[in-house]
Amino acid sequence: MPLYRDEAVVLRTHKLGEADRIITLLTRGRGRVRTVAKGVRRTTSRFGARLEPFMVVDVQCYEGRNLDTVTQAETLAPYGDVICRDYSAYTAATVMVETAEQLTEEHEPSTQQYLLLAGALRSLGGAEHHPGLVLDAYLLRTLAIAGWAPSFHDCAKCGAPGPHRAFNVAAGGTVCTVCRPPGSAAPAPETLVLLAALLSGDWAVADASAERDQREGSGLVAAFLQWHLERGLRSLRHLYRVRTVRPLPALLPVPDQPSLLEEERLEHAQELGLDELRAMDERHPALDRHLAQEVG
Ligand SMILES: [Zn+2]
Repeated sequence: MPLYRDEAVVLRTHKLGEADRIITLLTRGRGRVRTVAKGVRRTTSRFGARLEPFMVVDVQCYEGRNLDTVTQAETLAPYGDVICRDYSAYTAATVMVETAEQLTEEHEPSTQQYLLLAGALRSLGGAEHHPGLVLDAYLLRTLAIAGWAPSFHDCAKCGAPGPHRAFNVAAGGTVCTVCRPPGSAAPAPETLVLLAALLSGDWAVADASAERDQREGSGLVAAFLQWHLERGLRSLRHLYRVRTVRPLPALLPVPDQPSLLEEERLEHAQELGLDELRAMDERHPALDRHLAQEVG
């Protein structure tokens, strides 16, 4: 069977049988792949700890009919260790890997998506910026790579030069007074400046932004993401943002959810039916365990 070697970010893992795990990877060269890692749940496993979510690894696999099999894994960057010790970084990283899984295809190479995700995890792991800002920058750029770059200045519909006050998720961002659909939002101009800075990577502007604008910006990014993804992201429900870079998890309050997302979730529940919703809820056992420890 053909053997290959690639760099990859571990997106997700789940148990298989007694000692094995299914590992979903976003590789640099061959898109998203599902692999099986045999024996990794045994304490004697040579590479079990290297194949945890958010880790960047150099893997060697042989191709199978359904699943590829990991034969070697070397750690390139142990972001997972660092990120799991910081609750806000952890929840941000969880949203990132879930988004990456939804926006990439199996065996369809997307080096841009791989590099963006690896870079965002590196930034989280290094505590370079507030985790909420790193997440929003990641989400805006991953949507842009997918072909849904939002506009924060010119009119998203007719291209009339901005700035414009109205913002409409379905229309693609800021809209002029002529194109503005009913029910458009009117965010603070500073919020639109922040979002444009996050999209273009102007960190001097983003780091200096006010907390109020960061919160409003996050709400718009979340609405934009939910609009474009076919299914809601469960992990967004668990995301909450604290304004310190290294919080003490035990002292944090129970996360409260933006009402917009709760409404969307109820809509999803009606659309999808209970079975599908339960399946979504089973996708992140690690996050639930973490929540149980940190919050409950
Ligand atoms: Zn217009």
